[in-house]
Amino acid sequence: MKNKTIIVSNRLPLQISIENEQDVKVSPSVGGLATGMKSVHQEGDSLWIGWSGLTEEEVNPAIQQQINTAAEKEKCLAINLTEKELDDYYYGFSNRTIWPLFHYFMEYTKFDEQQWEGYKKVNEKFAKKILENLDDGDTVWIHDYQLLLVPGIIKKNKPNVTIGFFLHIPFPSYEVFRTLPWRESLLKGMLGADLLGFHTYDYERHFLSSVSRILRHETQFNEITLKNRIVKVDSFPMGIDYEKFESAALEHFEKTQDQKSELQVRLDQHLDTTPGSKMILSIDRLDYTKGIANRIRAFEHFLEKYPEFKEKVRLIMLAVPSRSNVPQYQKLKREIDELVGRINGKFSTVSWTPIWYFYRSMPFDNLIDLYTSCDIALLTPRRDGMNLVAKEYIATRTDLSGVLILSEMAGAAHEMNEALIINPNNYDQIADALKQAYEMPLKEQKSRNKIIQKRLKRYDIKKWADEFMKALEGTKVNHISKKAKYISTANQEDIVSQFNKAEKKILFLDFDGTLVDFNDDPELVAPNPELFTTIEKLNAKNCEVVIISGRDKDFLEKHFGEEQVTLIAEHGLWLKEKLGDWNLTENVNKNWMSSIRPVLESFVDRTPGTFIEEKNYSLAWHYRKSDPQLGGQRANELSSVVKDLTSNHDLSVLNGNKVIEIKNSGVNKGRAATKQLNQDFDFIFAIGDDWTDEYMFRELPDKTFTVKVGLQKTEASFYVEDTEQVKNLLETFAR
Ligand code: UDP
Repeated sequence: MKNKTIIVSNRLPLQISIENEQDVKVSPSVGGLATGMKSVHQEGDSLWIGWSGLTEEEVNPAIQQQINTAAEKEKCLAINLTEKELDDYYYGFSNRTIWPLFHYFMEYTKFDEQQWEGYKKVNEKFAKKILENLDDGDTVWIHDYQLLLVPGIIKKNKPNVTIGFFLHIPFPSYEVFRTLPWRESLLKGMLGADLLGFHTYDYERHFLSSVSRILRHETQFNEITLKNRIVKVDSFPMGIDYEKFESAALEHFEKTQDQKSELQVRLDQHLDTTPGSKMILSIDRLDYTKGIANRIRAFEHFLEKYPEFKEKVRLIMLAVPSRSNVPQYQKLKREIDELVGRINGKFSTVSWTPIWYFYRSMPFDNLIDLYTSCDIALLTPRRDGMNLVAKEYIATRTDLSGVLILSEMAGAAHEMNEALIINPNNYDQIADALKQAYEMPLKEQKSRNKIIQKRLKRYDIKKWADEFMKALEGTKVNHISKKAKYISTANQEDIVSQFNKAEKKILFLDFDGTLVDFNDDPELVAPNPELFTTIEKLNAKNCEVVIISGRDKDFLEKHFGEEQVTLIAEHGLWLKEKLGDWNLTENVNKNWMSSIRPVLESFVDRTPGTFIEEKNYSLAWHYRKSDPQLGGQRANELSSVVKDLTSNHDLSVLNGNKVIEIKNSGVNKGRAATKQLNQDFDFIFAIGDDWTDEYMFRELPDKTFTVKVGLQKTEASFYVEDTEQVKNLLETFAR
């Protein structure tokens, strides 16, 4: 069977309506996302899952049947939501918690347990529908903030599908995101994806910072290392259907007088009656993120600061009704109405009103009328994930005229440097930009727009979708760029059969990160009792077991003292033969400690959350609990300081997993393990997860089966994903 792609978004790309209480009308929507996904959806083997736009209360079985049939024709599958679900999930948690918080409107953010429960429930409903239609090997692309938990649920139930997620709104700074009571769940949900896409690098970096600070995962460049997988994170600035806007504009200019729309006739009249006047355009959904009120106030400031422009400019403001049952949107509507009324009252003359305000949506042709007729576009969002209107405006300026004034808080500003970039809270700067725009010579307008158009044309919506899909495809290739082979069911059988054939066998087992998972408090870690049963069975099969660890001898004695195993503590410094006594293996001194300890102490003082562990013959500085970024920086600093200090002692500095350990050179796991090969073993096996285990992998004889736990770079020949897999492998040896 051929693999397919499932696209998931809150809404299906369909307009579904019920007429005369019985007939269902379905038409494909023409929005940007639907166009972008064309190559993935219509032209590929794919299915689109999303909410129909109707509540369960509105549909009866007959209507449902019609919806399903019509949706199926468009390769869509509709999800119905009850009014209550919609209230909690969509109007509630999505639009009253995530939307304001992710746009930095903390004072608008509601933390409501019931709405969170509703959000979870609907995310599970989506996931269930996806899972019913999903096969191993398929690809899923999930869109936007309403569905942050879906990737996690899918990955848990079907690990062998490839999952992409794209966030269409900003991802806020960690300091803002951390205020959410459900921050862990949301991040874990998102990390179910194999690839996470954002509009800009800033959103990406905020996300990575939250992941490393809240979930404490290792993040490097654009990768997050989880226990058993790597998640890629990247930015893909969404484009528009450039050709559609360009050709609509070209057609617009071909229109004869009687083909023109009523709106266009009115716009023309205005320009004809006031020669030399210019129109300033703004288009947005009526949303508090869009900075509509500050735009009007800045316009007022402009007319006051530069009164010579009175009667010469007109602000054409289209505000599209949106989420009007959320209280803040109703309040905003009243505020805008009042502001427009006040300014028009203040400045109007018999022949001129400064603001033309439309509170409605307009058909595509009218948008083109506005885009092409206005010499200036003024877009001042206080925060905006991207802002497609800015891109559409430039695409319709086919003669390269026009000036775009754009807020630096819009994602689009990153790609449109040649526009006049303003701070939406700086009214004086906006007033100056309006003056500059009005007076800008045509030549300069053209040279600026030419550069932006070139980019928008190249990186259009299709390219955006293709690039994302290409990157998602890329995550399928094994991330391990090293020689290590994954121990799958097939090659595990081969290793186990070699184990069973061998006469005398020896296993070197690292402890932390191999036999047990890490814990913030290392003292609380203890081996699972099942391990002791496995060790007994291994012994019965003529197999020596060596626990080889960085832990001190007291810790190993406490947990393994009574077991039939050889113990090696402190990376090889101490040895306890099976049920024998502890002996020092190397002749080492510890005089160096008194000079190094104060250095480590100064690092503890300066780095909250770090501490020193003093072992018999080594000193370790642990930074697992510190701020990840600060800890990493200080670790680099400490290694180089200590390396300088230790150069005249016979010491080495080991960079372990969130720990730096200083000890006598010549003491390492490789040397200690090799010394144990005093008999003729015909099966040698060594397994470990961190840097200190690489000594074993390097120094043990070539025929050794060396195994790394986790996805980090290694010199081992094999790798497994996690401690669970280690347990399974050892139990299979013991069987
Ligand atoms: N738009 C529309 N009808 C209107 C006004 C605007 O379909 O009456 C479209 C506009 O062409 C643009 C989109 O709505 O594609 C707005 O996208 P943007 O990224 O600017 O803002 P969002 O609403 O997604 O926050």
